[in-house]
Formats: sequence, structure tokens, C-alpha cells
Amino acid sequence: MSWPGIIEAYRRFLPVSDQTPIITLGEGGTPLLPAPRLAAAIGAKIDLYLKYEGVNPTGSFKDRGMTLAITKAKEEGAEKVICASTGNTSAAAAAYSVRGGMKAYVLIPKGKIALGKLAQAMMHRATILQVQGNFDEALALVTDVSKTYPITLVNSINPYRLQGQKTGAFEVCDDLSEAPTHHFLPVGNAGNITAYWMGYTEYLKEGKITHLPKMMGFQAAGSAPIVLGKIVKHPKTIATAIRIGNPASWKNAELAALESQGKIDMVTDEEIITAYRMIAGLEGIFCEPASAAGVAGVIKLHKRDYFKKGDRVVCTLTGHGLKDADFSLKTSIKETTMVKSKEDLLKSLGF
Ligand SMILES: *Cc1c(COP(=O)(O)O)cnc(C)c1O
Repeated sequence: MSWPGIIEAYRRFLPVSDQTPIITLGEGGTPLLPAPRLAAAIGAKIDLYLKYEGVNPTGSFKDRGMTLAITKAKEEGAEKVICASTGNTSAAAAAYSVRGGMKAYVLIPKGKIALGKLAQAMMHRATILQVQGNFDEALALVTDVSKTYPITLVNSINPYRLQGQKTGAFEVCDDLSEAPTHHFLPVGNAGNITAYWMGYTEYLKEGKITHLPKMMGFQAAGSAPIVLGKIVKHPKTIATAIRIGNPASWKNAELAALESQGKIDMVTDEEIITAYRMIAGLEGIFCEPASAAGVAGVIKLHKRDYFKKGDRVVCTLTGHGLKDADFSLKTSIKETTMVKSKEDLLKSLGF
């Protein structure tokens, strides 16, 4: 039997009934891949796993939350949905809205989203509205409008988003038959770290696991409001998916880190790019730059002797690298070689 999507797979843990019209593209059920070469290259004696969310239907973990948000919007009779987005939320909102027979409107910061994500929203016939400001300003605007007009907000302040996203934690535990010791992930709006923590605590209550992981969230250094303890007015980073200066789930992310004895920390763009290239080059997994922030965090903490031997570390790789192929080419194009003859070819092959 093929994977039915997260709502059917985890129905018991989600706010749906037998009457709920389920809108799915078969999201979730993503692989948890051991990453021994990456761990060895880092020099860490840990059990390292990568949860590859890039293989979701629209190429990011946003599909987990969007299937439920759109399903509930449909159940409540909505005809229009709206979101502000750094790209992946708009791609997911657009795809799932089409699937549910609804109209999607997406607000994106002008010139600051990866091309693949824009292409997705366009192909799924969303109305794309560019704003001059940044993500935080776009979110304030759509939140305001959705309060007074008949249009459903599907940003992660919509509680169904996080309910859907918590299934990522369920899958990790189901695959390992236990929780990991640490869970690393990038932090932008901080919804995902909040959702994973919710998932792990629910599984503990159910007796499915016997301990909770430390939640380890990593922001980009130029967009690190939680680490700095203040709003960043002009967030900067090449990792556009986490280029957020005033996270919607700020307090919940802090709580997740505190309660789990984990931490919210930051990594530089340089560290993110190094991790991004290592993941693709050593493990065969192509993620987008923002997705590599968690692995960059593992590298940073290993250098500080943070880990104990045998720690079981999971990193969520949040989105697919092809969404921002442009960026990957910019970091690696110089490595191609011109071949003009058979001799050239044999030389390149090492013969
Ligand atoms: C949305 C997103 C993030 C950030 O997740 P938050 O829940 O906003 O913290 C990270 N990486 C990718 C690829 C994303 O699309």
C-alpha cells in the first residue's frame, strides 16, 4: 500500500473527524537517512541521521502543515486562502489550494525568494503579490487582512500548520523506535521547532518513547533575533527561508529549547554553505541552503566538544536543493572541466 499522507497516517493525533474532507498530496513518510560519511568528516563519534524533507510533494516540510491547514479551511467552507512567505509556504499553499479547489494569494518579499519557489506558486496559479518590505512586514499585513475579511490565513500562526508539522517527530520516533538524544533544525519563524517539540512530548505521553530529545535550533547569524534577544529590523542571510527578523513562534521556540535543555544558537552564512556542500557531496542529499543550518550547528558544537560518544543526533533537512539551483551553481560552477579530446577525457578519469 502506498503512503496515505500524514493525516491518514496519524489521524488519531490530529483534529479531524470522519466527515473532514482530506486534501492531500501524499506528504510525509520521508526518509530518515544515516549519515556516517558526514559524521566521519566532521570527526564526531555520534550516530547521525538526516530527515530529508525535500522529498515532500512540493519539496519542503511545509507540506505537512499545509495539508492540515487547507483541509480544515475546506471543512470550514473557505474559498480563499492567503499567506506571507519566504517561498516554500507559498509553494505549498498554492499546490494544496488547487488540490482543494480554493484560490491562493501569496505575498512575497520582492527579489528575496528562490526562483524555484516562485515558479511553483505560478504554476499552481496562485495570485502572487510582491511587497517592497521584508517577510515580517508581509506577515503583519496578511494577518491584519485575514482578521476582518473572509480569507483564511495559512501561515504558521494558523494552529493547524504546527499540528500537521508535529508528525515529523512521530516519524523520527517510529523509525528509530525511540527518540534521538538531540534534534537539530534551522529556525526561521520558529514554527517547526515548536511543532517537533509538540510531537515528541505527545509521543512521550502516549508511551511511544521513554525520553525527550534536546531541541537544537539554529538561526543564521544575520537573522538571529532569538539568539540576540531582540527583533532584527533588516535580517540578512543567503539562507532566504530563514531570513526572518521577528519570528511568529519566538516564545514557543525558547520554551522548547529551555524545557528540553537544548538551545537556540546561530551559524554564519559561511558555516551554512560549508554544511550545505558537505551534505550534498558526502551523503548524496541535495537540500537548500537554509536546510543546512542544523548540520552547521552540529559542526559548530562538535568543535566545542559538546557531544558524548553514542549520542543519537537527527537533523531535519527542511527543503530540496533544486528550489535554489541558482545558488548552488554560484557556489560550485568553477569545478567543471572542459573536455576537447579523448586524451582530455582519459586524464579527467584518472587513467
Ligand atoms: C520555512 C522553512 C524553514 C524555517 O522553518 P520555521 O518553521 O519558519 O522556523 C527552514 N527551512 C526551509 C527550507 C523552510 O522552508
